[in-house]
Amino acid sequence: IPSKEGKIFIKALFDYDPKEDKAIPCKEAGLSFRKGDILQIMSQDDATWWQAKHEGDTNPRAGLIPSKHFQERRLALRRPEIVVQPLKLSNRKSSGFRRSFRLSRKDKKTNKSMYECKKSEQYDTADVPTYEEVTPYRRQTHDKYRLVVLVGPVGVGLNELKRKLLMSDTQHYGVTVPHTTRARRSQESDGVEYIFISKHLFETDVQNNKFIEYGEYKNNYYGTSIDSVRSVLAKNKVCLLDVQPHTVKHLRTLEFKPYVIFIKPPSIERLRETRKNAKIISSRDDQGTAKPFTEEDFQEMIKSAQIMESQYGHLFDKIIINDDLTVAFNELKTTFDKLETDAHWVPVSWLH
Ligand code: 5GP
Repeated sequence: IPSKEGKIFIKALFDYDPKEDKAIPCKEAGLSFRKGDILQIMSQDDATWWQAKHEGDTNPRAGLIPSKHFQERRLALRRPEIVVQPLKLSNRKSSGFRRSFRLSRKDKKTNKSMYECKKSEQYDTADVPTYEEVTPYRRQTHDKYRLVVLVGPVGVGLNELKRKLLMSDTQHYGVTVPHTTRARRSQESDGVEYIFISKHLFETDVQNNKFIEYGEYKNNYYGTSIDSVRSVLAKNKVCLLDVQPHTVKHLRTLEFKPYVIFIKPPSIERLRETRKNAKIISSRDDQGTAKPFTEEDFQEMIKSAQIMESQYGHLFDKIIINDDLTVAFNELKTTFDKLETDAHWVPVSWLH
């Protein structure tokens, strides 16, 4: 990873093939890229077509890519469930990069796709993933990658990987202690298995946005608080957290600077071979008991992984396929070791 030195780098949040792009003035001049690629911007002089090259590419010739503004507009137009509205707030910065749209769901009944764009107006950041400006960043000792978020479908082996990592170095890794409103069982201690709190307090905490996520199970609330992440970090440990992918965007803050790893299932054939003797607590099972995997579990896992990747793939820093557990674990371990030594691409907003 190079030093920044006045260069502009962006992470592509979508796949782009100029050959498929009807709008590009010249297909041969286009630059193709994949979601997650790092591009260096060579020119932003044109409002619609930027010039860019792949980061590290020694070929000095740049190619055309759609500008952020242009791509956001047409993506929003293509997705009829999204409404593009001018932003009412006035105190927005209007740097070329930040100019984008506020999007909201379309009213299903009217089935109308509204698109408004007045030149003079400024727009809120879009929900439409296009590009993210990034910068190379090497962690300082006081500011390591401390929160590592693991996401993946039910049954992919995320908990097993997390447990193995934790056991490999309990001084170095930590996990959060969840809150619950259920009664403490005799063998449990407050603050170890759970932090036991009243329903009233839980509800107040939810109101005050104290939770990263929470859910209800058998008439009790369970949830992971933001403070529980902070308390792991305060012990100078790397906090391992597994959450639903939709919560990731709330964790991507200056404070946490998370590194997000997606644990992906292998092919269905490999799932059948590798999970022959394994058990799963299926999301379809109300009892929450572990049973041998069924063909339906495999299919559900693969489908759920596909949805996660297409909806949240732009938030993943790393994808690890859990085919063979030992191989996946070693890859995970190597990833963690590199996090502490190598520079990584992070959003520029994390450095201000
Ligand atoms: P138990 O009461 O048997 O300890 O746990 C019951 C259920 O609560 C389990 O299915 C467990 O996965 C879920 N649970 C435990 N901690 C959390 C949490 O932090 N958030 C959510 N949403 N569920 C949790």
